[in-house]
Amino acid sequence: MCLLGTIVALFLGACAGVSTSQGVRNTSRTFTTVVLDAGHGAHDSGTRTRRGVLEKDLALDVTLRVVPKLREAGFRTVLTRKRDVFIPLDNRVSISDQQQNAIFVSIHFNDAGRKPVAGVESYYFSPESKTMAERILRSLSAATGAENRGARVARFRVLRTNHNPAVLMECGYLTSLRESALITQAAYRERIAEGVARGIIQQRGGPLRGANSENVSENGAERVFSLSAPQW
Ligand SMILES: [Zn+2]
Repeated sequence: MCLLGTIVALFLGACAGVSTSQGVRNTSRTFTTVVLDAGHGAHDSGTRTRRGVLEKDLALDVTLRVVPKLREAGFRTVLTRKRDVFIPLDNRVSISDQQQNAIFVSIHFNDAGRKPVAGVESYYFSPESKTMAERILRSLSAATGAENRGARVARFRVLRTNHNPAVLMECGYLTSLRESALITQAAYRERIAEGVARGIIQQRGGPLRGANSENVSENGAERVFSLSAPQW
């Protein structure tokens, strides 16, 4: 981030090179906090497998598996939800916006109706998020063997209004019999989580140096909504 540039921008009304799209912070290579957003929750179940396993539960499971991997690599994690609760999209974005030096990663599963589609995709809106969306997707595809269906621009609210670089990962199609049979296995979800975590860590150029796990509270999930959590 460029403080001087921001101050200059206040006077000149422009700040070339600092924010290229509606005030999105340029933290995609410097971040130390990862806001993890498990899609859906409570009455909003998302999509489901033909056997009735719900996207909201699978997304939360994967999200909770990503947390320890990032923390081990020295990152601070903030979750928009850690239980089966409904969090409005705007609240998810505010949780993200209140974090300093952060990125936002939303976890979802996909639905193709009756079409025989399988594979993984990622979505982004701001140009600051493009490389991140591509990198995490490559890592997810490599870790799972799922087809890389590409990173695309989408106007999803959690992406479009976010002030941090933000991506939405579609970690597979619940409507695919073959893929949903994998996704409903814990071992495969662990691979999804590994792929996502590894992609995030690669985006930062590797684990954070000087990371000291003793500085971190044992119960990271308790940081949900704890917006005043100390930076480190
Ligand atoms: Zn979803």
